[in-house]
Amino acid sequence: MDRQLLQLVCNTPGIPGFEDPIQDIVEEALRPRCHEVRRDRMGNVIGLRKANKPPKGRRPLRVLLAAHADEIGMMVKHIDGEGFIRFEPVGGLNAQAIVSQQVIIHGREPVRGVVVPTEGETPPAMRDMLIDVALPQDEVCKRVEIGDVITFAQELVQLGEQVYLGRNFDDRLGTYCLLEAMNQLGPTKVDVYAVSTVQEEKGVRGMPAAAFAIEPDIGLAIDGSLAWGAHVPRHQNLCALGEGTGIYLMDNLTIGDRRLVRFLFELCEKHGIPCQKNIGGGTDASAIQRTRTGALATTVGPPTRYMHSTVQLAHADDIDATVRLLVAFLENAHGLESVAR
Ligand SMILES: [Zn+2]
Repeated sequence: MDRQLLQLVCNTPGIPGFEDPIQDIVEEALRPRCHEVRRDRMGNVIGLRKANKPPKGRRPLRVLLAAHADEIGMMVKHIDGEGFIRFEPVGGLNAQAIVSQQVIIHGREPVRGVVVPTEGETPPAMRDMLIDVALPQDEVCKRVEIGDVITFAQELVQLGEQVYLGRNFDDRLGTYCLLEAMNQLGPTKVDVYAVSTVQEEKGVRGMPAAAFAIEPDIGLAIDGSLAWGAHVPRHQNLCALGEGTGIYLMDNLTIGDRRLVRFLFELCEKHGIPCQKNIGGGTDASAIQRTRTGALATTVGPPTRYMHSTVQLAHADDIDATVRLLVAFLENAHGLESVAR
């Protein structure tokens, strides 16, 4: 585990539509691993590592890995006479999970504050919450304006030996696994496209443009698998922390390609990579699968407890297992030639 890379990726802000800080890091990390790296108009970063051993007489398969760079956050909507700030969520925020959380408002200078409920419903609705930055209105207005981006202040923390806590494991663990897999990757017979997408949390808005440009034959989204936890029973979220990477059979937007899913489970078996079945929420795989004339697609990723909260939990072994699966997948993806061509 490259703890330093994990920390950098998880502590760098980037809400939907404002992913530049994290995309700068991704672009720099991909550059030495790719033949070319570019950023498209929407902000997707696309790295291409060409096949080392291309097949004779035909183009190599185009295989895409995608992790989304955006994390859920908020935008400043109104500043009142007392200097209290009202906000609009950007991405699927869970109202209960954000009360009492510290935030950073990325204004002219960064301003720290805390989310507090006002009088209203119990439990409080998001519209009845505000951010208190403990400054009078004129001081707030010198630093903050409507439209400024807000992220949660929670940084990466290690809980015990093996478990990490972060505000944005959905999907910065995906970003980490993408970069680390590219670092560890050996020779391939396929062209590899490493893509860091934008605006996934607002309904998979960035991936379609990147997938259209790449025209992949096969693609994997890397995103958290749903893990059971304190308030989520095992029959609802199938995956367990520490028991391997999750392979998506299906989610709300995609039915994982059955041949690709079988191929992934067989790879895990062959290489001794711990894995488990996941039924998930919805990922960039939907846009990969349906681009142009269609592609083989599904999603893999480490089980994550409390997704869409600011205290997401994941196990180091599951992160490592995900990286191993991605590397094995890319090095063997030419084995899908007969069904993917
Ligand atoms: Zn996600």
